[in-house]
Amino acid sequence: MTGAQVTRILLEDRRAVGVEYFKGGALHSERATHEVLLSAGALLSPQVLMLSGIGNGAHLQRLGIDVVHDLSGVGEHLHDHPDVVTVVDGPGLNDSFGLSLKGAMRLLNGIFEWKSRRTGMLTTNFAEAGGFLKSSAAQAVPDLQLHFVIGKLVDHGRKTVWGHGYSCHVCLLQPKSRGRITLASADALAAPQIDPAFFADPDDLQKMIGAVKTMRQILAQPALTQLGGTELAYSANAQTDEQIAAYIRDYADTIYHPVGSCRMGSGPMDVVDAQLRVHGIQGLRVVDASIMPRIVSGNTNAPVIMIAEKAVDLIRAAR
Ligand SMILES: Cc1cc2nc3c(=O)[nH]c(=O)nc-3n(C[C@H](O)[C@H](O)[C@H](O)COP(=O)(O)OP(=O)(O)OC[C@H]3O[C@@H](n4cnc5c(N)ncnc54)[C@H](O)[C@@H]3O)c2cc1C
Repeated sequence: MTGAQVTRILLEDRRAVGVEYFKGGALHSERATHEVLLSAGALLSPQVLMLSGIGNGAHLQRLGIDVVHDLSGVGEHLHDHPDVVTVVDGPGLNDSFGLSLKGAMRLLNGIFEWKSRRTGMLTTNFAEAGGFLKSSAAQAVPDLQLHFVIGKLVDHGRKTVWGHGYSCHVCLLQPKSRGRITLASADALAAPQIDPAFFADPDDLQKMIGAVKTMRQILAQPALTQLGGTELAYSANAQTDEQIAAYIRDYADTIYHPVGSCRMGSGPMDVVDAQLRVHGIQGLRVVDASIMPRIVSGNTNAPVIMIAEKAVDLIRAAR
């Protein structure tokens, strides 16, 4: 059902029997024939569970929500790939995407070429190159990832920046820091509180300082410097470790891979079992990025599809 927001899971004697949802200005409900599958993502699946009375009992009571099942791990262990972007611009970079008269002409030509021949600049996925690196030779597998973008990317592309250039992201693939999702209020239509707690563990910040230096070494290679760009001042001014740490704290952000907030496992802080069933509740599974016990060392979309396909097998086997 589109245009509907689930406000809570309907529970009878600790069994999920359906959902309540908000649509067209009114509350409705729907009964499940077999079981309820919650797939609201790592930021919102914990919210729906908590609104349904499944979560940290003390937290729910403070908000006046009846506790159906005290499950403290709901919303905990949130993590992501903390990321920082360096932007390079310059007059010699006019072939990249950007805002200028020449850029607008190229874009118009690109639209024409795409419509007529399905080729040209509009075939880009923007993040045209990437890389996986080890922060040190001692690492068994890469723990840093680069995304290279053929445009000036500031504030996730929400800020309009004039001119042409390129951007390079670097992120930590296995951060130690863990954040949390909590409810801001019992109002199901209000956003939850999201605390990513990036760099709460000092090791993450140290590793990120090294990562920024490695990224700069790559950007300083002749293949790129021959194009004549200059790193924007907000990051270029950070040269000492202390300055780089401050730049990271000011500018680091998500690369959109939140996971872990309904962690799979068998411990007291885990939310779902190996069949993705919510501990202590019948007829309820969580099927999304929130169940990852530990983030994958790469982009999360394909692994989430894999989780969903595995869930299909589990559900069929249970019928
Ligand atoms: C901007 C961006 C770029 C990304 N780029 C990449 C990439 O290039 N490669 C890659 O691998 N991954 C990428 N990702 C990550 C990838 O999209 C996610 O890991 C993946 O979509 C997570 O799947 P999910 O099912 O857990 O959650 P989601 O895809 O977030 O799905 C959750 C759905 O539940 C809905 N929902 C939430 N709450 C409710 C409610 N109460 N009632 C009804 N519906 C609700 C949401 O609207 C949403 O449709 C990107 C993410 C973003 C945000």
